Amino acid sequence: MNKPAGERCKYLDQQNRCEIFGTDLRPKACANFAPEEEFCGQNREEALQILTLLESSTH
Ligand code: SF4
Repeated sequence: MNKPAGERCKYLDQQNRCEIFGTDLRPKACANFAPEEEFCGQNREEALQILTLLESSTH
């Protein structure tokens, strides 16, 4: 599953939950991802701000 940076995953539902959680369809990268406050902040808004900043600074 490839998607451009910043694009919403097609498997997120309306409540921002993964629709394929616990299935073989879920990419290994997702299962291996360990959220850290440095990148994810305290909530979705902070995560988007941090990741947007990181993307623009590493472009
Ligand atoms: S865990 Fe992976 S597949 Fe599921 S919604 Fe998040 S990015 Fe998409």
